[in-house]
Amino acid sequence: MENIRNFCIIAHIDHGKSTLADRLLEFTQTVKKRDMQAQLLDDMDLERERGITIKSHAIQMDYVYKDKKYVLNLIDTPGHVDFSYEVSRSIAACEGALLIVDAAQGIEAQTISNLYLALGQDLEIIPVLNKIDLPGAMIEEVSDQIVDLIGCKREEIIHASGKEGIGIGDILAAIVERIPAPEGDPKGELQALIFDSVFNSFRGIEVIFRVYNGQINKGDKIKFMNTGKQYEADEVGVLRLDKEPRPYISAGDVGYIISGIKEAREVKVGDTLTHVDRPAKEAIRGFEDVKPMVFAGIYPVETSEFEELRASMEKLQLNDASLVWEPETSAALGFGFRCGFLGMLHMEIVQERLEREFDMTVITTVPSVQFHCYTTRGEMVKISAPSEMPDPSLIDYIEEPYIKAQIISKSEYVGSIIALCMDKRGIIKNQIYLTSDRVELSFDLPLSEIVFDFFDRLKTISRGYASLDYELIGFRESTMVKLDIMLNGEKVDALSAIVHRDKAYDWGKRLCEKLRELLPRQMFEIAIQAAIGQKIIARETVKAMRKNVLAKCYGGDISRKRKLLEKQKKGKKRMRQVGNVEIPQEAFMAVLKLE
Ligand code: GDP
Ligand code: MG
Repeated sequence: MENIRNFCIIAHIDHGKSTLADRLLEFTQTVKKRDMQAQLLDDMDLERERGITIKSHAIQMDYVYKDKKYVLNLIDTPGHVDFSYEVSRSIAACEGALLIVDAAQGIEAQTISNLYLALGQDLEIIPVLNKIDLPGAMIEEVSDQIVDLIGCKREEIIHASGKEGIGIGDILAAIVERIPAPEGDPKGELQALIFDSVFNSFRGIEVIFRVYNGQINKGDKIKFMNTGKQYEADEVGVLRLDKEPRPYISAGDVGYIISGIKEAREVKVGDTLTHVDRPAKEAIRGFEDVKPMVFAGIYPVETSEFEELRASMEKLQLNDASLVWEPETSAALGFGFRCGFLGMLHMEIVQERLEREFDMTVITTVPSVQFHCYTTRGEMVKISAPSEMPDPSLIDYIEEPYIKAQIISKSEYVGSIIALCMDKRGIIKNQIYLTSDRVELSFDLPLSEIVFDFFDRLKTISRGYASLDYELIGFRESTMVKLDIMLNGEKVDALSAIVHRDKAYDWGKRLCEKLRELLPRQMFEIAIQAAIGQKIIARETVKAMRKNVLAKCYGGDISRKRKLLEKQKKGKKRMRQVGNVEIPQEAFMAVLKLE
């Protein structure tokens, strides 16, 4: 055990975690040169295309240092604020963390929030000043920032460039020398913390864990302490570039088991594995609870695909423990699921993964945060969909979630950032100058105002020089109302939104205008109306289409006609028929694009 080191890499997004991980894999010859590709651990297509890490990835390396052999378990983590749950899971499985800071950018909001997560778990922090090859690298200034932030000595900061391969040996030496070896009793009762799982359609579910005490052998009868489910460990092994079977995994190490588990629900990240015969007395203290921030409905485009969607959601959830959902019905859309997401990026990714990995075509409905509604009967109802809102006569008052937002930017943008936050009903709480040119601002803001398009606006007004981090701080009373949308006089529940009363009229008007642009023309006129309660507050009309598309095929070439129809059908993806009106996916997101 004294030759094992478990570490993760934490940083603000784009500061170079994945690139640095590539260099570590190369340097330790975990990956042969010819198998090397950039951002090797980002193995999902989506991650590669977007250039971001969505999931944590574990990989084991061998490293010889001063003639001794070490096993290094690296866990790469995502940096986006939506995925801090993944970060906290990885952190719980490690003794140390490389804290990467981009020398040209300096400390950003998620540098700080991820550092706090790591310090909260008592991890040894190794500060790395990365991208020192860049002409814009501010080595002295950013070193000062790091020293201020973590209270380390200047000499402890390792200078590196993932791109040029500078400092990689120093980093590996620091991992061995500074990060403590894992503790634990290999002879004790088995306690292994599950920090990830992967669905494999051939072999069932792969469970990835860190062993704290005891040893897990091939063939052992094991049980999940929270769910109580029992299995046999058919295969036990370590995660290299591929899975490598081993006879056992012992205390301190990271590994996987395959045990024929087919049901996604039976594996819970954060659960503890133990033996059936000689169980541990207690589970390892798990991770923080997942707190979904944004809720939306997910519906199959084809109503007949509901059961298939359910199965896909279950598999996806196994790979994404932060996704929560339950069945829901909508008058307009039929059977679907109400889902909780960590943020808008997470929601987009879930939708895309359902389409790519499970070949589902889905519609996501208007996203919403979760409100607390106190009724005149003195009850509290949690509302995460407009349809759950009680009749206004039964509502005593409503509370909405508030966050504390930390924004780091250049001083020249302070004025516009404050103006933006005021417009979003925010209250400024603090303003600290980190250096003469960098400011940290904190605000209390309603979550509903920032979770949707705030970050894009912040980036625009600061020309990209602003980073944002936030955490939930509680609920505060607000006057929220339900804004309904009617198409040809029929209320479409999936288009309703809960909005602040002061903004409701303006939003209703603009939402109708936006929908007029987004709804495709039909053979008949479509009336779009916005209403609060019984009161209509806005109206727009989509004019009827003059000509039939098929008229183009005048002369009646049947096969051409059919081709055209098929083409239309394909183009119809992500479109739902409600009554006799077709609603495209964008229409459900229109409420987010009003500003
Ligand atoms: P991550 O989001 O923290 O995983 O960051 P990535 O590893 O994906 O890197 C983000 C961007 O920075 C990519 O375009 C990399 O090519 C670039 N990059 C990473 N490390 C370095 C470095 O040391 N020097 C320079 N100049 N660019 C780097
Ligand atoms: Mg990455």
